Amino acid sequence: MNILVTGAAGYVGSVCASELVNARHSVVAFDNFSAGHRAAIVKRVKLIEGDIADAATVKRVCRKFRIEAVMHFAAKALVDESMRNPGLFYRNNVSGTITLLDVLVECGIQKLVFSSSAAVYGEPKEVPITEEHPLTPINPYGETKLVIERALAWYQHAHGLRWVALRYFNAAGAVGALGEDHRPETHLVPRLLDAALNSDRTFHIYGDDYPTPDGTCVRDYVHVRDIARAHILALRALPRIRGAVFNVGHGEGFSVREVVRGVEEVTRRTLRVEVSPRRAGDPAVLVASPAKISRDLGWKPRHSDLRGIIRSAWTWKTKHPDGYHRTRSAR
Ligand code: UDP
Repeated sequence: MNILVTGAAGYVGSVCASELVNARHSVVAFDNFSAGHRAAIVKRVKLIEGDIADAATVKRVCRKFRIEAVMHFAAKALVDESMRNPGLFYRNNVSGTITLLDVLVECGIQKLVFSSSAAVYGEPKEVPITEEHPLTPINPYGETKLVIERALAWYQHAHGLRWVALRYFNAAGAVGALGEDHRPETHLVPRLLDAALNSDRTFHIYGDDYPTPDGTCVRDYVHVRDIARAHILALRALPRIRGAVFNVGHGEGFSVREVVRGVEEVTRRTLRVEVSPRRAGDPAVLVASPAKISRDLGWKPRHSDLRGIIRSAWTWKTKHPDGYHRTRSAR
């Protein structure tokens, strides 16, 4: 199939583009490089530099490459930034996506897999979180993802769009030359590995007074390769699914302290750890129920054991101590 991957230079998008190529699809990578990395685009995909808000370019690309399906990753994704600059998130994630959807309608493209997030749930009322959990996001990032999920249902109704939205829990891990490199990096695993590599750095636990067994927050870590597989299964299911949302999570939670221990074991280094105040907006526990995606798409996490996630991310980190900075493009 000819597939357009927006945000293909980002963390999850790049792994997904690579896995699609491995599955013998023809992939067109589309990215404006506002946050992505050129070195994250694997050789065998066609690369177009552009913005999803530029309808004329997206239309030209869809026609030229006879695009049949779209995987849409391009989005602003740092929660903290969304709190400070909601307009940026509404412009990129909502307005940009609507422009993209209208191009798909115009070009007769009816298959879409959308990157959503567990952030659509907000503060969990019960765990594990099923797809029926109330949707009350507590930050603009989650809100913009939810707005698009709802828009997709209306595009389905009006235009026959077929879509799947995947609500990721905590993506982590690396696949070969592709790893996690956000600027600024706010995520737990890469920050811990940074502290493991640089013994002068102190790792800060954001709060140990949560109502959890060891007082630190519990999250559901899922290997980015398993997330990519969920996309491929979703795409395959689109002829029989008209529109659906699925959690993508392991179904098992680990506390920040457990992840710290895991990193110390895998790296065989002792970290300098300090407890700092809570970070605003962090729920105590976020764990997915993966029952629906397992039942309807046959998805099972294959690589998401915590040690395996950390090992893959550590291998990448030791080869790319500065992330993609100074990594030469594979192209
Ligand atoms: N965290 C931490 N120190 C850090 C980064 C993250 O204690 O330097 C905690 C954070 O408070 C949360 C968990 O690690 O409880 C996972 O955070 P991350 O930003 O990776 O993902 P989130 O769950 O916020 O999407």
